[in-house]
Amino acid sequence: MKQDVHVVLSGRWLISMDGNSGAREEAGISVAIAHDKITEIGPNLAAKYPQAEHLACPHGLIMPGLINAHTHAAMSCFRGLADDLPLMDWLTQHIFPREAQLTKEIVYHSTLLSICEMIRSGTTSCNDMYLFAHEVARAVEEAGMRAWLGEVFFDFPSPNYGALENGFASVEELFEVYKDSSLVRITVNPHAVYTCSPVLLQRAAALAEKQHALLHIHLAETKDEVRSCVERYGCSPVQHIENLGLLNERLVAAHCVMVHAEEIELLARRKVKIAHCPESNMKLASGIAPVQQMLNKGLTIGLGTDGSASNNDVDMFGEMSTAAKLQKVHDLDPTSMRADAVLRAATLGGAALLGAETEIGSLVVGKKADLIMLDMNQPHLTPLYNPVSHLVYAAKGSDVLHSVINGKVVMRHRQLTTLDEAALLTEMRRIGETVQRMR
Ligand SMILES: [Zn+2]
Repeated sequence: MKQDVHVVLSGRWLISMDGNSGAREEAGISVAIAHDKITEIGPNLAAKYPQAEHLACPHGLIMPGLINAHTHAAMSCFRGLADDLPLMDWLTQHIFPREAQLTKEIVYHSTLLSICEMIRSGTTSCNDMYLFAHEVARAVEEAGMRAWLGEVFFDFPSPNYGALENGFASVEELFEVYKDSSLVRITVNPHAVYTCSPVLLQRAAALAEKQHALLHIHLAETKDEVRSCVERYGCSPVQHIENLGLLNERLVAAHCVMVHAEEIELLARRKVKIAHCPESNMKLASGIAPVQQMLNKGLTIGLGTDGSASNNDVDMFGEMSTAAKLQKVHDLDPTSMRADAVLRAATLGGAALLGAETEIGSLVVGKKADLIMLDMNQPHLTPLYNPVSHLVYAAKGSDVLHSVINGKVVMRHRQLTTLDEAALLTEMRRIGETVQRMR
């Protein structure tokens, strides 16, 4: 085993997220990696493993890679195209008409672009929902990212699969193709209660059940969604999918902004996982999800950016800072969503939301080697009294120096090792011209 160690990261602080979220400070604190796993954590391991690559930083902070619990990576091609609009206008007048004209190539390159941004800002796993999921999966594997992903279902024809029947066949195929993948896990993704009939929702839930997969949906995002659900089905979105039998521990519900106290109790009883996306909720003026109340009821909370057309980036450091501050405004209580709770949501909470808390989300010997190192020798991070505080309130994605996913160094000294960033940006400028011409 000793000769298998191929990377050792060494720094000054280590936040393992194992037990409490406090930091261990010790010059030369190191993590050793063999194959795809963490094999040892301790001081000065570089000397013990001279054959390994040594990534050292005297002011380095080593921590678990961040987990983006809800995103649409390929929406990077729509960033900045239509801002300052309500969700329904934004979706129906700008996003859905353009999504109807998407191609495999656009989705593939736009997903790579978001992955590029995610790795550069410390994210090592994401939970993606989009069209052309085969292309998303191809991009994820090529980039060496870890992702949960699936093809989005709605009642109208898809630019990828056309009629819904083909969509289900396409997702069954995804399950088959990626059943042994070390990076890709397939999920079942009905878009929302306002875009999916009860029959479609139940069929999607049955597929998730059969495949032992997560069911990932947008839920209770806006007042409009609640109003239209009450008009069509006589109840709220949460009650509607409860009536359809969808509320269970398999369900990952993004947003949950418009939920009242009894619904939070119900979500907690059903062990539903919540992906909190505060910046998207702010930009679309959807509201503020009561996540502190949800945490108080024992709900599992992950943190997500949503797509970068409604954020407008996929930087989880920015999302952490917003999550902490926005909840304080919502509750008019500065003790709401403390820094340690936010950091937990962005790491181990996200892992638990994905049912992967035994594999990722904390730095523990035997877990997958998904970790990042930040260089804390920065004007905005000096002096450093409390590393958790700095990570949530002061650090930037650009402070991430190295990133390792599944034991592989995917960013070294801020250089991506798996992607040709310059070529990708050139391609995306060309795609941008195509997207702009879409009507
Ligand atoms: Zn979304």
